[in-house]
Amino acid sequence: MNRDEKASISVLKIVLICIVLIFAFNVVTKATNVEIKNTKIILSNNYELDVVTTKEKVSEILKENHIVVLPDEKVTPNLETVISNNEVITISKTNAGQPTSAIELAEEDSEVSMDQVLSNYTSIVEKIVVEEVVIPYETITKDVSNNSKDTANKVIQEGKDGLKKISYKVKYQNDIEIEKIKISEEIVREPVDKIVQVQTKTTARKSTTAGERLKAGKTISKMGTYKVTAYCACSKCCGKATGITASGKKATAGRTVAAPSNFAFGTKLKIGDNVYVVEDRGGAIKGNRIDIYMDSHSAALQWGSRYLTVEVVE
Ligand SMILES: [Zn+2]
Repeated sequence: MNRDEKASISVLKIVLICIVLIFAFNVVTKATNVEIKNTKIILSNNYELDVVTTKEKVSEILKENHIVVLPDEKVTPNLETVISNNEVITISKTNAGQPTSAIELAEEDSEVSMDQVLSNYTSIVEKIVVEEVVIPYETITKDVSNNSKDTANKVIQEGKDGLKKISYKVKYQNDIEIEKIKISEEIVREPVDKIVQVQTKTTARKSTTAGERLKAGKTISKMGTYKVTAYCACSKCCGKATGITASGKKATAGRTVAAPSNFAFGTKLKIGDNVYVVEDRGGAIKGNRIDIYMDSHSAALQWGSRYLTVEVVE
């Protein structure tokens, strides 16, 4: 590279820098030409707004600040005026007596709704409400097809609905329920299950098999599901505390049962896993009921009432 070439590159550099500087200077000049003005806008409700703007006309400044002039409002100075720094724009009512501006309407609305809110607040009433709810009974089926020739389905205990009381704390506002909180629940009456004795399709064959195991003449037709209760020799259970059964034998725990009169004395009954002997009768022991004799009243109470398959054994 020779000296001339170096010199020409230097000149080119200077020219380029000058162009950049001139351009930058123009930009700065233009920027400083934009006047930033402080303006105060007074709205018709006397609300004052201090704004900084680069706009010139009143209409532009209002638009920039999202201020809409209503038909009954007047702007001073007028919309076409070019504003200077620190000048005030005033929006006023042309007819001050009539509250028709959007702002005043909005204020009126909010006052009304505040009244409503207050009146609503004072009309909240709290009550304790108790509701009675029926507890439906359940139906339990007992399949006795393996142990009975009795082919008819029958109800051996009628069901009875239970009842519960549920207490709620309820809040009413202008007679409309707005809140309901459950505070307690009490069962007034437990439901009683409905118990139905049923036969499945295989009844006939299985009953025949069962019948074949038993000799003719036995009371096999009395097999089935029985309500099996328990009793003792006390006066509560028997009225008289003698311990002597209706058959004349002394009642013996683990052996003696009271059964309806269609079971002859001496008939052996398989109840659950044990075999008992019919030796007693009872006033309440009718139909599908068996009463098992026990040593003590507490043992009888503990047994309670059970639905069990009863089978005549030889
Ligand atoms: Zn007793």
